[in-house]
Amino acid sequence: MLPDPADAYEALMQFLYRAPIGLVETTLDGTVEMLNPMASSLLMPLAAGTGLDNLFAVLAPLAPGLSRTVAAYTDPSGVVCEGLRLPLGAAHTAPGAPQVLSLNLMKIDAGRLMAVVSDATHEVQREQETLSRRLRSAARTDALTGMPNREAVREELRRLLFQPDAERRFAVLFLNCDRFRQVNDAFGQAAGDQLLVHMADRIRGALRPPNDRIDLQARGGQLAARVGGDEFVIVLDGMRARADAESVATRLLDALARPYQIPGHEIVCSASLGLAWGANAASSPDEVLRDAGIAMVEAKRAGGGRQLVFEPAMHERAARRADIEAELRLAIAEEQLFVVYQPVVELRPDGGTDHAAAVEALVRWRHPVRGIVPPIDFIGVAEECGLIGAVGDFVLERACRDFIDWQGRLGARAPRLMAVNLSRAQLGQPGWLATVRRVLEATGIQPAQLQLEVTESLAAQDQGIQQRLHDLKALGIKLALDDFGTGYSSLSSLHLLPVDTVKIDRSFVCQADTSHHHRVLIEATVKVAQSLGMRTVAEGIETASQAEVVRSQHCDKAQGYFYSRPLPAPELLAWLDDRGALAA
Ligand code: C2E
Ligand code: MG
Ligand code: MG
Repeated sequence: MLPDPADAYEALMQFLYRAPIGLVETTLDGTVEMLNPMASSLLMPLAAGTGLDNLFAVLAPLAPGLSRTVAAYTDPSGVVCEGLRLPLGAAHTAPGAPQVLSLNLMKIDAGRLMAVVSDATHEVQREQETLSRRLRSAARTDALTGMPNREAVREELRRLLFQPDAERRFAVLFLNCDRFRQVNDAFGQAAGDQLLVHMADRIRGALRPPNDRIDLQARGGQLAARVGGDEFVIVLDGMRARADAESVATRLLDALARPYQIPGHEIVCSASLGLAWGANAASSPDEVLRDAGIAMVEAKRAGGGRQLVFEPAMHERAARRADIEAELRLAIAEEQLFVVYQPVVELRPDGGTDHAAAVEALVRWRHPVRGIVPPIDFIGVAEECGLIGAVGDFVLERACRDFIDWQGRLGARAPRLMAVNLSRAQLGQPGWLATVRRVLEATGIQPAQLQLEVTESLAAQDQGIQQRLHDLKALGIKLALDDFGTGYSSLSSLHLLPVDTVKIDRSFVCQADTSHHHRVLIEATVKVAQSLGMRTVAEGIETASQAEVVRSQHCDKAQGYFYSRPLPAPELLAWLDDRGALAA
């Protein structure tokens, strides 16, 4: 049996009447013909002044253009507007009442409109929450690596520091790439960025749940973040003991030390790591980060590629370094730096000694309060804070000028070679080669009369550094490998370095006459160097017997207190004059 049409119509009307959305039928000018109770309840707060006779009039304060939009809609039927959000504004909303309405408007035929009105308050709130969550996480994310950023770390630390001291089983690991600036300078910023992305991947990889049981037990929360240029922070929570955090740190450093493949280059770049342990931690997130950062700087100062646990004494050292930095700036401006010269003598095969073979320029600082400060106390700071360029340029220029001056005064008895120490940070500076050229021109020293000394750890670095060394050699400048025996490179890799001279470190030479082992090492170094066409200098000769040993081992040159301490220029001249007179 077919349903009675009248019944069906009644059912539909009931359904529309009770529907939980507002339905309004109007003519094209907005005159309301029919509306259900939900529509009147939603629109009533707006209709206080106008009554519910005309929909456009009711909505005019919220959607003033509605009548125009309808008039402009010329199709015979269809959707005029959909999902239009109408915020009711404070004036119209009681607490708990709808705050935003959603309006759909359809043209049913040439004479009628159907409006669907609903309460969109919750929907809008949800959207706003999602948006603000997204914004919040963007503000806490590093765009380059996709890692959380410093803000996220601080938030996590704030939470962890809330626990009582004894229950704090977390560690903060502060990581920094040892030579990021050089990579950026040598290969460009895009390569630097790629390196950072690779580093981030390796950090994530090293933290991934490992198989060993210790870590599984120890693993609580882990947060790995990039907090600055080449600085990463890892927060490890739920550690059983500090030793567990240290072994994670070791794993991180191992992972980061492997060579990186950046298109066109292989880059080797170790990292330094400072560790702050939760139970001993400072009280604010920023202080904890600062402490871990201080330990990282100490690790870097100790040669890099290693980890150190923060201890309070590091604070004082850091403060002292900050003092030195400030004072050093002043020292450069006020010309408190000066250069002393240590003779390097030639051990002639005939048993004689040539005292005018060379001198080494060594920088000193005449501090107004502390007296003469040795380079070991400030070169490292100068490298860290970017002052090494100014210090190095000063020494180079002063030494070359003095050297030329002596030629005029001493003639044939003047030194034939000027050795100047070079710091790794100088070699990384893009304009530095131009500075060397300028000094050569300005002072008139011949390139072959200048020897630049680099330390082993520096010379053994990646190809960018090697290229710079080759550039210097191309100018005709001599290169020496300083402090040989203390760093990483070995006799077997000596042939890879573009150096003319190997300076055997004092720590070997000082035992030349007492330790067979050291004698053998010196002898081997001399033989390998000779076979590569390199010359050798024994550093730190303090006694006649040391001098005899290195002479008998065919070392070409020697330097040390036995011959002379480093001297100010006038005293050096007197020293040379004396020796010259003796030889004559
Ligand atoms: P270095 O280049 O290996 O210089 C030799 C150091 O050994 C000098 O120390 C010198 O005074 C010291 N020395 C020489 N003979 C003896 C000896 O017989 N016994 C002992 N105990 N020591 C001896 P100094 O002048 O304190 O310099 C230390 C280091 O500081 C230098 O080692 C060099 O690496 C660095 N340095 C010095 N001047 C400069 C500079 O102008 N620029 C840079 N970048 N580094 C510099
Ligand atoms: Mg030297
Ligand atoms: Mg040396």
